[in-house]
Amino acid sequence: SGRLACVGLGMMLGAHIGPRARSHVEQADVVFAAVSDPLVELWLQGMNPNVRSLQPHYAEGKSRHRTYREMGEVMLAEVRAGKHVCGAFYGHPGVFAQVPHDTIAQARREGFHAHMEPGVSAEDCLYADLGIDPGLFGCQHYEASQFMFYRRRIDPSAYLVLWQVGIAGDRTCRRFSTGPAHYRLLAERLQEDYPADHAVIVYEAATLPISTPRMEPVPLSRLADTPLHMHSTLVVPPALELQPDPGMLARLDAIEAACV
Ligand code: SAH
Repeated sequence: SGRLACVGLGMMLGAHIGPRARSHVEQADVVFAAVSDPLVELWLQGMNPNVRSLQPHYAEGKSRHRTYREMGEVMLAEVRAGKHVCGAFYGHPGVFAQVPHDTIAQARREGFHAHMEPGVSAEDCLYADLGIDPGLFGCQHYEASQFMFYRRRIDPSAYLVLWQVGIAGDRTCRRFSTGPAHYRLLAERLQEDYPADHAVIVYEAATLPISTPRMEPVPLSRLADTPLHMHSTLVVPPALELQPDPGMLARLDAIEAACV
């Protein structure tokens, strides 16, 4: 009977795919591809003759919700037809990606076997390229628009990573990019918690072995004038020392004192 595997291809063509993800790509009856680069689609075609792109479902001016629904439906139609279906997604299929989670859940509701194979995410590349250990000061991750639409509590003594910053503030859910007016509001929001001259980093991982990552430090005050893309991630380093918690420290000391 039909089954679904949503697998991660990693960020860089040919460099990041795990053996389990690869074997799902190779053995599926049909592979649906949501990838970052047309070259990546060609590479997939070398592993499986029946690759269908999910890319045509995207269109400027079309609601992303509709796009995502359609992507799920075309994959599920093949699962219902009894096929072994592989959804091949760049990066990690479960990181800031709605379609794999939703489609796996729906397939399971319908009684099919469905699972996810992780992949190397933009997040993983970011830690490697920028030399950041998320455990050093902690690291918060938000989708940039959600971060603007809702009040969040930022901890400026931790790292902050904002995803989909290129479409930050898009209330229509229909755009491929927003622009300086939107980015200015994002910068203003960040300046509630960080100094105006705080250097944030625009990060774009390399997706081909021949290219290099973009790692561009920009003062917050100039963020609005910086080109941001669909594949940009914004990294905000800590601006504040770790703040000790004297109450907790005293209570911990009391435990130690009771032990001796
Ligand atoms: N599932 C993907 C992320 C999809 S959401 C993953 O695991 O990485 C799309 C967002 O991912 C982009 O808006 C951007 O914030 C980030 N992203 C995608 N490609 C990127 C790249 N080459 N470099 C840095 N960030 C990237």
